[in-house]
Amino acid sequence: MNRRVKFACLLLAGCFVFQPNTEAQKKSAASPRQKPAAKIDDAALKNAEARTGEWITHGRNYAETRFSPLKQINDASVKDLGLAWTFDTQTDRGLEATPIIVDGVMFTTGSWSIVFAIDARTGKQLWTWDPKVPHSAGAKACCDVVNRGVAVYKGRVYVGTLDGRLAALDAATGALVWQVVTVDQTKPYTITAAPRVVKGKVLIGNGGGEYGMRGYFSAYDAATGKMAWRFYTVPGDPNEVVPATMKPAMDKAAQTWTGEWWKVGGGGTVWDSMAYDPELDLLYVGVGNGSPWNQHVRSPGGGDNLYLSSILAVRPETGELVWHYQTTPGDTWDFTATQHIVLADLTINGRQRKALMQAPKNGFFYVLDRATGELISAEAYVTVTWAKGVDKKTGRPIETVGVRYKDAPIGMQPGPLGGHNWQPMSFNPATGLVYIPAQETMFGYAQQKNFKFDKNGKWNTGVDFAIVKDPPTALPTGHLLAWDPVTQKERWRVPYIVMWNGGTLTTAGNLVFQGTADGRFVAYSADKGAKLWEVTVGTGVIASPVTYEIDGTQYVSIMVGWGGAFALTGGSLGLPVTPGRLLTFALNGKQKVPVAVAKPLAPPAVIESKASAELIGKGGDLFARSCAVCHGIAALGGGGVLPDLRYSSPATFNSFQKIVLDGALASEGMPGFKQTLTAEDVDAIRAYVVSRRNELAVKK
Ligand code: CA
Repeated sequence: MNRRVKFACLLLAGCFVFQPNTEAQKKSAASPRQKPAAKIDDAALKNAEARTGEWITHGRNYAETRFSPLKQINDASVKDLGLAWTFDTQTDRGLEATPIIVDGVMFTTGSWSIVFAIDARTGKQLWTWDPKVPHSAGAKACCDVVNRGVAVYKGRVYVGTLDGRLAALDAATGALVWQVVTVDQTKPYTITAAPRVVKGKVLIGNGGGEYGMRGYFSAYDAATGKMAWRFYTVPGDPNEVVPATMKPAMDKAAQTWTGEWWKVGGGGTVWDSMAYDPELDLLYVGVGNGSPWNQHVRSPGGGDNLYLSSILAVRPETGELVWHYQTTPGDTWDFTATQHIVLADLTINGRQRKALMQAPKNGFFYVLDRATGELISAEAYVTVTWAKGVDKKTGRPIETVGVRYKDAPIGMQPGPLGGHNWQPMSFNPATGLVYIPAQETMFGYAQQKNFKFDKNGKWNTGVDFAIVKDPPTALPTGHLLAWDPVTQKERWRVPYIVMWNGGTLTTAGNLVFQGTADGRFVAYSADKGAKLWEVTVGTGVIASPVTYEIDGTQYVSIMVGWGGAFALTGGSLGLPVTPGRLLTFALNGKQKVPVAVAKPLAPPAVIESKASAELIGKGGDLFARSCAVCHGIAALGGGGVLPDLRYSSPATFNSFQKIVLDGALASEGMPGFKQTLTAEDVDAIRAYVVSRRNELAVKK
């Protein structure tokens, strides 16, 4: 037995020990004295593929394929997969991180941007770094206090924090080397994405598109933290001075906007996806939705509103724009193009193409030429009613009449949560298939009457959410979709009872791994989609799995913790949310998978109320507009992630005005609504929540 493993076993009761193969043991990369990730430089990142046993960058390689060549765990052996170790993140909010594994160390993040360094063999914590994000920042996060992971480079670990900092840590100790504030912290900007490192620069964007922010992404010197350049994705005040390298792109964009959009933000936040092609030297960046969503209030004369909902190709050294492709011109539905970007070389119509692939929220799967941005093909990968297709000549969607909801509300598919959201897809070069966590979403869009921009950190969509206020009759469904990007056709699918399932991993072992919203971790055959293995984990899974190999043993890891945008709107199967965990599996792992068990809440006591039906109705509309995005549609509870208000204590109901109007719980992330609501409004909301509570109390 390896001495280090033996030592860890003395520390960890019940530790399961693998017999490492001696050949591999000799090759074992990590020497205890070597600083982890010390050798991860530009060449290493460029050749990430060659480090077969590791996972050194967010999407495993610059092409972000999330494909691993490892095959000890394969379609024949996966039946023997068992739990090797677990790590408790001690958090109770959503977990979305993709762990990085290098030199035997795993680096990952939990909610509130906390960083963990873990021995990848044993699950023993090596160090942790808590950026101490004030919990009041939770109110600035549209979609939970999540974080999608770190980047590593030359012995350092880089992380973006929810309150907008970018930090560099010593990979060996977790000591802070430098940190910079990348946003105006008085505004509702957040960072949830994993940074990427390209040519010595750390790239990071931010979120805030629901709150009236103007999107941008920046490059910082990895050594010093000094900002190298910043690219604004939408034009600002026309009087603003624009750096010369950015001017052509900004001038072009400004021609596609109308009115005084800069006063309401504009949107276009870069909150997740990036990829890089070292040969073409192009960095690809996915841009978010318009802010406010409703184009009639954002850019009243219409226009394409570049570079909203676009894929940008820029030079990593300067940020100079080389090409752009807009998936949704004049976005008015929250149709981001921030979804995972994958690069692959495909043979299409007999021609070798350097392709870029994305399945953005709008429901079309795009294959672009990544050298030029030319559209190769685009077809609907989920049910799409808002457009009839994509015009192959112009690259523009052919919109259905009335979808811009100018004169009347419209119900359409997909909705703001998209046919696919941030949960990453993967591409397997052996099967030629892309594995998409797809979902069938819908939404009713209506103009918000008398829209007024609220710059005090509230949602500014210009869309009246009060038309989506009744309890849903059924939860929207999802499926794992195996998509052929060459023929633009579905190859197979695995249906799920609910949407918001995890990202995917695919391997040379003919496998696809995915965690599910119904609390399972599953392996399918990559060619046919046959279910080959599953375990119950008890909590909804949204993160993406990774795989790595140490001392001849292949491991598969997944972070388990329900949360994110769908959860907050009330999406929940009633599974427990806590505790957040990282689970690591290997062949013949013998640990028992810890399964959290839901503790059913006792029915709440009736609170007497003499509120009129009219007042309750008014409260329902106000709740839908101001509260439902965090506390659930129809007060169904924030997916178990945030408090279910129907179960609040009588004391809370007595303090309703202080909490909702004055912000008595602002330090815990519940902002005051003084700027948008009156005391009468809050009484109506209280009457509505009490009535929803009493329905529950009576029913039980
Ligand atoms: Ca959005």
